[in-house]
Amino acid sequence: MKTQSTAMGARILIVEDEEPLTLLLRYNLEAEGYRVDVAARGDDAEIRLKEGLPDLVVLDWMLPGISGIELCRRLRAHSDTERLPIIMLTARGEESERVRGLATGADDYLVKPFSVPELLARVKALLRRANPGRIVSLLQIGDLELDRDRRRVSRAGRDVHLGPTEFRLLEHLMQSAGRVFSRGQLLDGVWGRDVYIDERTVDVHVGRLRRALNRGGAPDPIRTVRGGGYAFDDRFGDRGSVTGKQNSELGNAGRS
Ligand code: CA
Repeated sequence: MKTQSTAMGARILIVEDEEPLTLLLRYNLEAEGYRVDVAARGDDAEIRLKEGLPDLVVLDWMLPGISGIELCRRLRAHSDTERLPIIMLTARGEESERVRGLATGADDYLVKPFSVPELLARVKALLRRANPGRIVSLLQIGDLELDRDRRRVSRAGRDVHLGPTEFRLLEHLMQSAGRVFSRGQLLDGVWGRDVYIDERTVDVHVGRLRRALNRGGAPDPIRTVRGGGYAFDDRFGDRGSVTGKQNSELGNAGRS
């Protein structure tokens, strides 16, 4: 059973009156594993939010009923929604709108037309920022899943068998995807501070981890940073996750 604590189960409310854009966003967010709810009017969204709170709201600026700005202002005025993560969608190039959007308390904004991968990246970043201490039992990036409770890793739905050190190494890299760890930092984080092990040991285990993950020539999610160390490639998820055709045809959507 999926719980709210899993990143992939996060609930997102899209408040947008342009149906093609709503469909596109719903399709792509659901493909990322989010649970998506939609409202086409500001007043409907307000009622929906009183019934239950999502983890994040994508809120259009121009809406029938109540405008996005007004809804955002009302949400920020109530203690139970004052910290609700909100991404505001605004019309292109209207700087004053952007400023007002942020001033009303939106956490982030996107100017239409925007690319779907850009929105997905903002959603991911804002959810991460909003819940820094959230214990996520399931880490999922692209086609790779790491289940902490069950100590299992799968790629594209197929089990990947890892030794305990490789498992902890992958967990460490995935939970701070994008961050570059030096070999010394990995030794501290994965093996423990009090253990003396040669830094080359890290290379050996990264090599084993890669062989297990990348069977059959699958793209390598781990980056070697020259003179730096290793990182889980935070763009790894973006490459395979957005279904190609729909995205390339409809990638730039919405005109306010
Ligand atoms: Ca609109």
